[in-house]
Amino acid sequence: MKICTKNHHHWSLLDSLPLDKNGFGRYKCAGCAYEKGYQAGENREETFNIDLDSLHETQSGSAQYKSPHAAFAQGYYDGISNTYSNECS
Ligand SMILES: [Zn+2]
Repeated sequence: MKICTKNHHHWSLLDSLPLDKNGFGRYKCAGCAYEKGYQAGENREETFNIDLDSLHETQSGSAQYKSPHAAFAQGYYDGISNTYSNECS
């Protein structure tokens, strides 16, 4: 699996996520997990698979050791919230 080269490592929104220092997820890019969750949220998917194997490996920076599960959930929430705010405007 390729190491992530996207520039989302320093997203401040990842700062508050819990750490996953010992789990399998510590090697995975929380930024990519967030984006994947966000997509699922925007599509209001009712079933989804985080599929850690499909995520890039984390490089360094704030996304390192962040829980990709939590990042996915945060992204999903933000994606869902975005669809509602669009309806209100
Ligand atoms: Zn990434």
